[in-house]
Amino acid sequence: MKTIDLRSDTVSHPTSAMREAMARAVLGDDVYHDDPTVNQLEADAAALFGKQAAVFVSSGTQGNLCALLAHCGRGESILVGDTSHIFRYEQGGMAQLGGIVPQPVPVQRNGALRLDDLQAAISPDDEHMAKTSLVTIENTHNAAGGIPLSVEYTAQVADFARSNGLRFHIDGARIFNAAAAYAVEPKALAEGADSLTFCLSKGLCAPVGSLLVGDAAFIKRARRARKVLGGGMRQAGILAAAGLIALHEMRLRLHEDHSNAQLLAEGLSEIPGVTIQSQRTNFVYFSLTAVAGLSAQEFAKALREDYQILISPYGGEQGLFRLRTHYWIDRTAIDKVIMAVGALLS
Ligand SMILES: *Cc1c(COP(=O)(O)O)cnc(C)c1O
Repeated sequence: MKTIDLRSDTVSHPTSAMREAMARAVLGDDVYHDDPTVNQLEADAAALFGKQAAVFVSSGTQGNLCALLAHCGRGESILVGDTSHIFRYEQGGMAQLGGIVPQPVPVQRNGALRLDDLQAAISPDDEHMAKTSLVTIENTHNAAGGIPLSVEYTAQVADFARSNGLRFHIDGARIFNAAAAYAVEPKALAEGADSLTFCLSKGLCAPVGSLLVGDAAFIKRARRARKVLGGGMRQAGILAAAGLIALHEMRLRLHEDHSNAQLLAEGLSEIPGVTIQSQRTNFVYFSLTAVAGLSAQEFAKALREDYQILISPYGGEQGLFRLRTHYWIDRTAIDKVIMAVGALLS
């Protein structure tokens, strides 16, 4: 029996086309800018987002940190969502390594930061206070449930940034899921932003890698930041080869993951005892009202041991579960999961 792993889209393996491209990739020393496959990936990423340049980084976390180090000086502060990945799940790298002060702003249920809240969080011109220099949003918003932010909202934040003299960074780890959800071109979701990070792993199935895009002078500074963080890679084209397939092919099929997530939510919602808490893009959250005497941990364990289905209990013992669809979860897998949950709860 094959394992059905719904814990996250980060568990997705590279496709066979990626493995073949990796074996064939033409390589060079990327620290010398000599790797043609990396150069191609960076050029294509920049073009896709309508920016001048891009830099290939090892992870989304490294991309976000390079962006903040390239945009901000020590003692400057940034406006950032209070449940955002940058604020909560990156070890406060900006403060640890860059002397940058995060100013958290409440993330709304729709994944957005209110413009009024942003305005109020800007430091006044006062020598007691860290000077606000940047605003950042996250698209899709991970902790809010994979919620995509629209082109219109992005444009509003860009206007806000411009009129307040702030720079604007987007953590677009799953920006292609947002593009698929709204059926828009990726560059429309980056318009007015000074920089954007996105992941080639996760739903796009590359084994490693993210990109940071922006203007040429910014990317030059970001490249310096990447080097000091130990992110200068040599024959990285072997990874970029998979990245090119992620960028050109895999991003175009994400709507399939979204419809599978929808089918999963619909199927689960018909099982007595299951309540769907939310379903956006490739994310599904459900809770159990009657766990049939099982704790959340026990329920997940039974799914794993009896059906080889992996899901993430989320929020401890409250019986909330997080599932994420990806390339390796097909319709048959969705049907199996619905059957297994039904069987365990009957
Ligand atoms: C996954 C993710 C990142 C980056 O994560 P890495 O594991 O470092 O690649 C950044 N932001 C968001 C919203 C993410 O979901």
